[in-house]
Amino acid sequence: MELDGKYSKDQSLLKCDCLLFDLDDTLYPFNSGIAADIMKNIQDYMVHKLGVQESISLELCVLLYKQYGTTMAGLRAVGYQFDYDDYHSFVHGRLSYDKIKPDPVLRNILLSLPIRKLVFTNGDRAHASRALKRLGIEDCFEGVVCFETLNPTSPPPIPAEELQIFDIMKHLVHPQPGVELPKSPILCKPSRVAMLQALKVASINPQTTILFDDSFRNIEAAKQIGMCTVLVGTSERKKGADHALESLHNMKEALPELWEEAEKDEDVRNSSKARIETSVIA
Ligand SMILES: [Mg+2]
Repeated sequence: MELDGKYSKDQSLLKCDCLLFDLDDTLYPFNSGIAADIMKNIQDYMVHKLGVQESISLELCVLLYKQYGTTMAGLRAVGYQFDYDDYHSFVHGRLSYDKIKPDPVLRNILLSLPIRKLVFTNGDRAHASRALKRLGIEDCFEGVVCFETLNPTSPPPIPAEELQIFDIMKHLVHPQPGVELPKSPILCKPSRVAMLQALKVASINPQTTILFDDSFRNIEAAKQIGMCTVLVGTSERKKGADHALESLHNMKEALPELWEEAEKDEDVRNSSKARIETSVIA
């Protein structure tokens, strides 16, 4: 940050005591091909398991994602019934995780930061675990806040004859007066309720936490609840994002304050250790 030609330290980074990382397209890059495979699997699930017409599956998939944060949350909102574990095993369980490459550079960066680190993903626990293992960073985090954290149980099935599907595509083109978009029972980013719930579960103070996420709407939502935000996957900073990083590999150059504070803490630890050792010898 340049102010009157002088470098000004980012206070929000200096007081930070927790780093929260999105998983997909943040901890591993978008060009891994996993995002495209996930999208294809979701469309197949919609067509083969929920009876959505193939010709509209792509449009509906994208529309629900935009409206509800995830296509899954949107499918539930408009009335489709399915078991959450069944959905996840179909969408994520069949992915080729070898497309995600081990990332020793990222591992070193994470390990060099003695600050609390957690993953916050809309994905399910098994997906997060497999992706983190492939990256070789599964032991770099205190915990993972995932789909199951916020949505512990699948709803009981409803008899097929009682199913009513809200035609959201028609509604968005010709909104009926007085008819509102249905709400989803699924909690996920970027919903404010989901974000606050995730922070509560993990005992995180938003005022001293940085969110790293490739989704701008997640970044915007995080900013609104007081978090410091880093948009990942682009170097172009948008309003609402405090920083933007092409890749997490650039963290140290872009956010040196994080290391500075960590090193200061390390100095304090070392000096108190020295005092203890001295007093023992004396
Ligand atoms: Mg993401």
